[in-house]
Amino acid sequence: MKYYSLNHNAPKVSFQEAVIQGLAADKGLYFPESITPLNSDFFKNIENLSNEAIAFEVIQQFVGDEIPTETLKQIIAETLSFDFPTVKVEDSIYALELYHGPTMAFKDVGARFMSRCLGYFNKDKKDNKNTVLVATSGDTGGAVASGFLGVQGVDVVILYPSGKVSDIQERQLTTLGQNIRALEVDGVFDDCQDMVKKAFLDESLKHHKLTSANSINIARWLPQMFYFFFAYKQLKSENKLLVFSCPSGNFGNICAGIMAKKLGLPIEHFVASTNVNDTVPRFLEKGNYDPKPSKATISNAMDVGNPSNFIRIQEMYNNDLEQFRKDFSSYSYTDEETTAAMQTIYKTDGYIAEPHGAVGYLGLKKEMINFPNAIGIFLETAHPIKFLDVVEPALNIKLPIPTQIESVLGKEKVSTKIKTYEELKAFLG
Ligand SMILES: *Cc1c(COP(=O)(O)O)cnc(C)c1O
Repeated sequence: MKYYSLNHNAPKVSFQEAVIQGLAADKGLYFPESITPLNSDFFKNIENLSNEAIAFEVIQQFVGDEIPTETLKQIIAETLSFDFPTVKVEDSIYALELYHGPTMAFKDVGARFMSRCLGYFNKDKKDNKNTVLVATSGDTGGAVASGFLGVQGVDVVILYPSGKVSDIQERQLTTLGQNIRALEVDGVFDDCQDMVKKAFLDESLKHHKLTSANSINIARWLPQMFYFFFAYKQLKSENKLLVFSCPSGNFGNICAGIMAKKLGLPIEHFVASTNVNDTVPRFLEKGNYDPKPSKATISNAMDVGNPSNFIRIQEMYNNDLEQFRKDFSSYSYTDEETTAAMQTIYKTDGYIAEPHGAVGYLGLKKEMINFPNAIGIFLETAHPIKFLDVVEPALNIKLPIPTQIESVLGKEKVSTKIKTYEELKAFLG
């Protein structure tokens, strides 16, 4: 499979090159040259297939022959070693829980898949390593640290804003050691992000072979298609239309859902639910794309003013707004509405949703008015424990600590404090 840059000003590359580079030389996101729908037998028989077998069918054409079949199967098995249950919350409303992995956020799947692909591509390299440089506002850092721990030929450097991530999130990215190092930046998330972007453009850092591990990287983005197939497998026997609502920040997840539909998965409608960072809902309403600086909210993993994957979505709809509106809606919610939804879901349904899932629920409920006979599924993208500062007071409960989280709580934080880009360069060496 070849990948082209959505800025159309860089050469086409292989899967391997796209994964290693992250972003094309013209700063465009990579996109697959073709998308071939899966055959109807696959969908007829899907409930008899394991998650691993489904994932292999789904991802195979995008990897091509660049990873041997047995190795790809092994990578998938390691990536998917936990459950993805659909949990009934109300009549016709399900939560697709994506948080049963090692760091308890959905980003585990993409981080694990990408790390193992990079590990495979670097398997024979001794001192010609890749360095994954990543800025995090919370969840990405932990998933990347856990996913890349001990992977051969890859060093990881994570930048996070000092004092702006939760205690659990900080421990997840500062306590692992080995090939994972954490930089605690005196500043906000945007400062971390700016430093990372600058480093990618810096010729004097070329020898580090820097790459990114957020959803601009195809190996982190594409495996997110799996979730939608796993939900379909579980709910197929209900024989109803399916509506998915994704709590959206950088729009990587929902963009993977649209890819799944392109592969033939029968999804009737998508809802992108956002917090007050509402660039996409405004676009759908008004027709012009007008990104704004991000605002801080209680669903902080979605505090994105200019979603990087939106351009991939537009590519799939050939920039045809009318067609796009038929398949896709987008609504935004305030923190007050989000907290009230968490309380309703808990009181009425006995289900504990964290703020991102609650935003997804709100968008879903609104859209279901248009699809009275469908099943609605909202993605629960993180375990409530990751947002305990919000969840516990809102619901007046105490959450038990899951074992995955307990294991990092006792470990000691190791990080290096920096303030300037020069300090980042000095650290990389
Ligand atoms: C990253 C994240 C999101 C947003 O996902 P995108 O693919 O960037 O839209 C939503 N919820 C949680 C908990 C996250 O960590």
